[in-house]
Formats: sequence, C-alpha cells, structure tokens
Amino acid sequence: MALVSKLPSISSSSPKFRKPNSFKLNPVRSIHCTPNSPSPFTEKHSIERYNRDNWVYKSQLEQPDSCPVAPDPGSIRDHEIAAQLPELKRLLEVLREKRESTGGGERGRGPGNVFLVGTGPGDPELLTVKAVRVIRCADLLLYDRLVSNEVLDLVGPDARLLYVGKTAGYHSRTQEEIHELLLSFAEAGANVVRLKGGDPLVFGRGGEEMDFLQQQGIQVQVIPGITAASGIAAELGIPLTHRGVANSVRFLTGHSRKGGTDPLFVAENAADPDSTLVVYMGLSTLPSLALKLIHHGLPPDTPAAAVERGTTPQQRMVFAELKDLADKITQAQLLSPTLIIIGKVVALSPLWTQSSKEASSLVEAR
Ligand code: SAH
Repeated sequence: MALVSKLPSISSSSPKFRKPNSFKLNPVRSIHCTPNSPSPFTEKHSIERYNRDNWVYKSQLEQPDSCPVAPDPGSIRDHEIAAQLPELKRLLEVLREKRESTGGGERGRGPGNVFLVGTGPGDPELLTVKAVRVIRCADLLLYDRLVSNEVLDLVGPDARLLYVGKTAGYHSRTQEEIHELLLSFAEAGANVVRLKGGDPLVFGRGGEEMDFLQQQGIQVQVIPGITAASGIAAELGIPLTHRGVANSVRFLTGHSRKGGTDPLFVAENAADPDSTLVVYMGLSTLPSLALKLIHHGLPPDTPAAAVERGTTPQQRMVFAELKDLADKITQAQLLSPTLIIIGKVVALSPLWTQSSKEASSLVEAR
C-alpha cells in the first residue's frame, strides 16, 4: 500500500509523541457519518463553559430579574445567547463610564485595541508566547467552537468570555453581530481579544473582521497561530513537503462554493501526485472530492489520512488509500473538526505502516 519508503520516527524522542505501539486499534463500528454534529470541543463542556461565561450575572452587572441558569444542558447555549445580548449592553455602559472616569485612556490604552489571536489546533502548548501574553491581559475575549478548553483556562480571572461560535442546532451570532461586538467593545476602551482556532487568517474569516474594523478606524493586531495542517502533520510525523516526494502543499476548503455537496471546482487543478493536499471542513464533500481527484489523475492508491480533534487527547485518526478513505471515515464515524491530508507524504508517517498492518485503520489515542 505504501508508495514511498518510511522515514525514521521523527518525533519518537519527544515525550508528547505517541509511538505507534501506544495506540489501540478500535474495531470499525456501524456505518454512520454525521459530519454536521456539534463540535465535541464545545458541546462536551458546555455546562462548564456556561458557568465560566456566567460573568454577565456578576458584580455590578447583577440584576434581580436575571434569568436563572437553565438546568437542562441541551438548552443552555440557547439560554446563554438569548440572555447575553442585553447584558452585553450593560457591560458596555459600565466600560464607557469607567473609561470616562479614568480620563479616556485606562492604563494608557487608546480605544480600539483588538487582537486577532490564533490558538492553534487544540493543544495549548502549541500557542505562541505572544498569544499567551495577550490572552492573559485581555478584558474581553470572544471565542468560537475550535478554541479548546485548555486554551480558555489561560484567561485571567477578571476577564469576560463570550462564545460567538456557530454550532449546528443552536442559535449563533451572525458575522455582522460579531463585527459590531468587536467594534463596540474596542471603542469603549476594552482590550478585546478575538480567539480563533488554528491561524486566524486560514479559513477563519479573520480577514473579514480585520477589514471591517480597520475601515472603522480600529487598530487590529494579528497574532498568528499554528494552523491545523501544520499542527496535525507534525503530530502524525507527516512532512507536508518532502524532497522528491511532494514539492508543494495546497490548503483547500471542502465547502462547496454553492453550499451543496458538489465539491471543489478546484479538483481538476489539485489532482497533482507531486503535491500534498490538505482539506479543511471536508468531511461531507470528501466522497465526491475523492472521485473527482481520481478522475483527474490522482492515483487511487494515494495515501491519505483523516484526523478528528487533532493534537488533543481525543484525537482519532483514519489512514487509508484515497479510494477507500471516505468509507473508512464513515465506518469510524469521524466528526467535525476533522482534517484530511492526501498525498504520498502520508506514507512517510510511522503510523502509516502501523495502520496498514492492522485489521482496522482507525487509530485512537489512549
Ligand atoms: N483557522 C483554522 C481553520 C478553521 S476551518 C486553522 O487555521 O486551523 C475549520 C476546519 O479546520 C475544521 O473543519 C477542520 O477541518 C480543521 N481543523 C481545525 N482544528 C482541527 C483539529 N484540531 N483537528 C482536526 N481538524 C481541525
């Protein structure tokens, strides 16, 4: 199955890297793929996150008629989002009053400090030193579903956290609402941090937020993060480029331009055996993408990997040749967020040999 020879285990000396023999191989379960399910990052901890976000009911913002915390976990996020908008207005008033009473520039800051911070794929140790510093100093942080709990644990005790993610089945903020929130809080003098999974400028809509704020005269600083492709490739021991194997790498979105299942008008150009393809948000369109890539000349036995919640303790991986990858993903029931890597370089991972020897190709961290 492997097309190229194996590299020595590049990360085996690192205590963080899980050697192949420390993985357990799970038997494949029933065929069922639910790519649009809510992110396990968020949903699993929604009660904790609600409690953490409960700042809106504290101290000077407390109102006797504030809604109580809903006991039903399923309704918590609805409740949270419905409740927070009026409370945010009150927080804004408090910030503005505070700003006026301190002469317009608390701690010497001017209005309009917004940091667009990449938090990497999940492992908090993949944050940059700069990101940690900015997160610790923030007054208000807006985060979405890919920002892991370990990263949120770094937030200072007095900071306010606001979930603005888009989660299937729940109300969500529109992009315009997010823009307005960032603008209002920056104008009120808050040190605003917009956290984004991975790198803010890679499929993160960071460019739009930056553009909007700059047009309003707000200074935006971008702090890059490790994008899922780099973080996950490193975790698996896959070099995204490798002399003689892959001379370029291409990041694709699996989202159809029209929002349907027709994948990737780019498939024709992307079917290059000497290039590595990394597909973001590609679970639902992978079956047709794989067919199109093969149709346009990518060998059906091209090595490929799909990784759910990469770099976190819940990481799960599927290794397969391109022609089998969609079926293997379905059997393993991988959920979003999952990243797909296609190309000969995948066979350079020490885990590729391991997966090809086992009956099942689903590899889970213990
Ligand atoms: N700005 C992010 C990408 C956001 S798009 C970045 O630079 O990484 C969201 C997609 O990124 C997900 O659907 C998934 O394909 C990928 N992704 C992000 N984090 C991931 C993770 N920890 N594990 C697997 N895929 C991830």
